[in-house]
Amino acid sequence: MFELMHGSFFRKLLLVLFLFGVAGLAASFVPKKVKTTQIRKIVIDPGHGGKDPGNIGTGRYQTREKDVALEVGLKLGKYISEAFPDIEVIYTRNDDSFPALHERTRIANKADADLFISIHCNASDNRSALGSETFVMGIDKSEANLKIAQKENSVILLEEDFEQNYAGLDPTTPEGIIALSLRQNKFLEHSLYFSSLIQKQFRERVGRKDRGVKQAGFYVISFTTMPSVLIELGFLTNKEEEDFLVSKVGQDYMASAIYRAFKQYKAHLEMVDEKSFPVVGETPKSEIKRPVEIPREEAEKKPATKRSKGITFSVQIATTSTPVNMREKFPGLRDVKEMEVDGKFKYFAGEEKTYEKVGTRLNEIRNNGYPGAFIVAFEDGQITNLQEAIERAR
Ligand SMILES: [Zn+2]
Repeated sequence: MFELMHGSFFRKLLLVLFLFGVAGLAASFVPKKVKTTQIRKIVIDPGHGGKDPGNIGTGRYQTREKDVALEVGLKLGKYISEAFPDIEVIYTRNDDSFPALHERTRIANKADADLFISIHCNASDNRSALGSETFVMGIDKSEANLKIAQKENSVILLEEDFEQNYAGLDPTTPEGIIALSLRQNKFLEHSLYFSSLIQKQFRERVGRKDRGVKQAGFYVISFTTMPSVLIELGFLTNKEEEDFLVSKVGQDYMASAIYRAFKQYKAHLEMVDEKSFPVVGETPKSEIKRPVEIPREEAEKKPATKRSKGITFSVQIATTSTPVNMREKFPGLRDVKEMEVDGKFKYFAGEEKTYEKVGTRLNEIRNNGYPGAFIVAFEDGQITNLQEAIERAR
C-alpha cells in the first residue's frame, strides 16, 4: 500500500479505479432496503415495579398491579420471540425493578423500536367497575380519562429529581397532560389500529368486557417516537376481575390475546397473510365468561396489630431534590410532613402506630391520586427497615 502511494500517476489512477470497482461490487451486495413498515424491534413495558406496586386491588392478594403487568408482559414477549425469532423483544423491566417513566421512553427511543406496549391494571373507587381498555396518546379532556392518566403519571413524584427530568412539565396535572397530548400525533393511526385489534381479542376471545379504545395523556406513551399503546388489562378493585387477572390462566389468556393482536398488526403492516405466521400461546378452549376460582390462603393473611415501643408507620408520597409547596403539590392531603434525608426532601402523610392502620391510610392515599405511595417505618423519628419494624411491631 505504501509503495503504491508513491508510484506514478498512472499507478495511482489504476488504484483509484480498482477501489471504485471494489466499492461498486460491494454496493451491489448490500441487501435491498427493508420496508419501513417492517417490525424488527418491540418494547414491552410492564407498568410500575420495585417500590411502586401500582394499584393493590381489593387487598385480598399479595399480587399487585406491578406483578400482573410483569407476568403478562413476560409471557407476551415469550410468545412473540417464539413465533418470530427475528424480532428483538426489549423489556423496560424484566424483574421487580422500578425504571423511571422517562427511562422507559428513553429505552424505546434509543432502540429505535417499531412498537411500544405498556401494560397496566386499572383501579376504581367504584368496586363494580370492570373491563379492559387500551389507550393511545391523545387529547381527551373527559374527567375520567384525565383521572386515570393523572394516577398513572403520578408515580413521577416518587422519582428522584423529577423536576429536572420532566423539563418543567408536570404530567400529574390536567394542563401538563394536555401539553403532552400534542406529541405522538403522527403515530396515532397505527396506535389506534393496534389498539382496536387488542380490544377485539379481549372481547371476542377472552370474553372480557370491552371498554374500548381511548385517548388520554399518559406520559409513558407520549414521549415515545413510535406507535405506542397503554393497555389496562382490567380492574383489580373488582373481585371477579382481580381473581381472573391474578390467576395463571387469566394472565396466559391476556398475553395470548395481545400476541394475536400483534400478529394481525404485523401482518397488516407488512402486507402478508397472517395465516403464514406460527401459532403460539394459550388459546382459550371456549370463551371465558366466568372468572376463575383460585386459592385464597394468601389473601387471608392479616398484618400485625401490636407494636413495640417507638415504632410508627407513615405513607411516603414523594421524594424531591428541592422542597415543594406542600399545599399546591399535595392537594387533599392535610397531614403531610416534610423530612430532609441525605439532601433529599421526602414527604410523608399520616403517622400510625400500627401497620394495619397505615395500610388503610395507604389505600385512601392511593385512591386519592397517589397510586405509587408506599409505607415507611420509623423508630424514634428515624426511618428504619420496614420488614424488621413490621416483625417487631407484632
Ligand atoms: Zn398502572
